[in-house]
Amino acid sequence: MVDNHSNTSYMKLLEGKNVIITGASRGIGKGIAEVFAKHGANVAFTYSSSEAPALELEKELTAMGVTAKAYKSNAASYDEAEKLVSQVLEDFEGRIDVLINNAGITKDNLLMRMGEEDFDTVIEINLKSVFNMTKAVQRTMLKQRKGSIINMSSVVGVKGNAGQTNYAASKAGMIGFTKSVALELGSRNIRCNAIAPGFIETEMTDKLDEKTVQGWRDAIPLKRGGSPEDVANACLYLASDLSDYVTGQVLNVDGGMLT
Ligand code: NAP
Repeated sequence: MVDNHSNTSYMKLLEGKNVIITGASRGIGKGIAEVFAKHGANVAFTYSSSEAPALELEKELTAMGVTAKAYKSNAASYDEAEKLVSQVLEDFEGRIDVLINNAGITKDNLLMRMGEEDFDTVIEINLKSVFNMTKAVQRTMLKQRKGSIINMSSVVGVKGNAGQTNYAASKAGMIGFTKSVALELGSRNIRCNAIAPGFIETEMTDKLDEKTVQGWRDAIPLKRGGSPEDVANACLYLASDLSDYVTGQVLNVDGGMLT
């Protein structure tokens, strides 16, 4: 569909689709919310504590002419995930076309220094959350006989990384979960894929030492860090009907870092 009534003359790939994105108050999740709204999607998104930025994003997306709503919800909690999804179903006319499990944290340390709590917290927020949210949307997607689930893994889940045993385990676990869901629900036309971003420059990485960051950029074949929009565009493909025959895959969005 080409929109001739405004200055947008591109094809809208997600017109009228309802999407849930976890952790979209900033960074990659926010980038996904913005690109998806630009493509006509109605966006329900969560945050953990950043209420003001979340409400601001809600306003920004609504002004783009879609339905958008921010929800404070801890993705690591099974009960909160269940409540969130029933509230979204109420607010978004009973349909959920796309789930993006994006919420995630790091608590880096050498194994020698890593406490049990830092391991458990990262697994619960990054990996258990994916179980919680996928369980919560499953019934709706089964009824619809259609759905796309996208899990935000990392190149670190594919390759491993010294100082990130907890994070790497959570991100690798997401890949196993993704492939299993793809196998289990493929016959119901529910697709499940993972994205493995490399080094993505967000407000978070702005605080890092510029020299170190430049060193990372130089080591990437495309000679730059990625942007939230780079990751969002990969999500756009996996969320839209353009990827109707793609499931169980891990798409690296890393400027060639792992090649
Ligand atoms: P970020 O800027 O730190 O944003 C994280 C988002 O997750 C925020 O919206 C945060 O909400 C939310 N969040 C945190 N804990 C949560 C919880 N328990 N329940 C619900 N939401 C929660 O991170 P990012 O860099 O955009 O990363 C997003 C995803 O991409 C993560 O899964 C990360 O592992 C993955 N990734 C990032 C990179 C990278 O280079 N940046 C590379 C590979 C993979 P609040 O604002 O309220 O805290």
